[in-house]
Amino acid sequence: SFSAGAPAQISSLVVVEHRNGALTGSTLSAIAAAARLGGPVSALVGGEGVGGVADSAARVEGVDKVLVADSPLLRHQQPEPYAELLASLAAAAAFTHVLAPGGTFGKNLLPRAAALAGAQPAADVVEIVDADTFVRPIYAGNALATVRFTAPGPRFLTARPTSFKPAAAARAGAPAAVEAAPAGALAAMAAAPAAAEWVAESGRDGGARPELGAAKVIIAGGRALKSKENFALLERLADLLGGAVAASRAAVDAGYVPNDLQVGQTGKVVAPELYVALGISGAIQHVAGIKDSKCIVAVNTDAEAPIFQLADYGLVQDLFTALPELEQEIAKL
Ligand code: FAD
Repeated sequence: SFSAGAPAQISSLVVVEHRNGALTGSTLSAIAAAARLGGPVSALVGGEGVGGVADSAARVEGVDKVLVADSPLLRHQQPEPYAELLASLAAAAAFTHVLAPGGTFGKNLLPRAAALAGAQPAADVVEIVDADTFVRPIYAGNALATVRFTAPGPRFLTARPTSFKPAAAARAGAPAAVEAAPAGALAAMAAAPAAAEWVAESGRDGGARPELGAAKVIIAGGRALKSKENFALLERLADLLGGAVAASRAAVDAGYVPNDLQVGQTGKVVAPELYVALGISGAIQHVAGIKDSKCIVAVNTDAEAPIFQLADYGLVQDLFTALPELEQEIAKL
């Protein structure tokens, strides 16, 4: 923690991302990042009928207060009203830092709130140097930039989930206080432009599989899988290992899997214990999303494929031969 050297008035607000009534793992990482700043950490739970989520947030290690914005305007967590709420809260409650998890939700919301507050956000923070100084990757993760905020006002940040060890979801002590967000901040949402209308949400629910950002094991497939049906082969291996399934952009573009499974520069950044890349060439944009993985196993028919430069274990073989063999061996364990 930087509490020793940091100004005493640090006070941060973390936007809670939740799905099916539960906090996401990346929210726990954002809370851990906020705790590193020192000073009290408030968690903002927005939505409709989110009392249960608020109670869960109150039990997370490091949370000092939970603010609840229960409003029909936030039923679908749309960023337009949410950004108004956030900007208003940051101003009214004098938060020095406003953080969101660096996934689709946070990256959609936080820059809007920063713009409303007249502030420049820092996206994808991987390290907190001090209360004003942050490290973030640039050029698809090929370089790290250290940026320092010099203007007054709250610092708006998204925290890269894989860079901060998640805060414990259930702490030992008493839960934090839960209170309603100030009425003024809720009223600010009325100013949101009616520029977008919520139509429907579709896609995978994740089912029993872990979310990609938090998965310990990821089985990823590329263009070489050739079809949606073949991707199901990966799911069997993922199930055996309790892992998640991911894909390269080529596989997503070909329609084999939905794009929320894409890993890389324009997809998700992951850092599992084990990343198995099947029929993935290892383009720099893909590697940008996986290079923090502890152990990378690659199966590719081309011994010259760039993925082998990164892999801890490489197998030059047809994946359709390797996959069933791998599955058989693992099933024996
Ligand atoms: P390919 O490059 O076609 O590789 C397929 C591999 O499978 C080859 O190495 C081949 O030898 C091997 N193979 C073929 N048959 C078999 C078999 N039977 N068994 C085993 N191996 C086999 N890509 C991403 O993944 N994520 C991103 O976020 C991303 N963002 C991008 C952003 C930008 C701005 C740009 C320009 C590109 C981005 N890309 C991204 C695309 C990236 O450049 C590559 O095109 C893509 O990663 C290639 O996917 P692939 O490895 O599945 O396909």
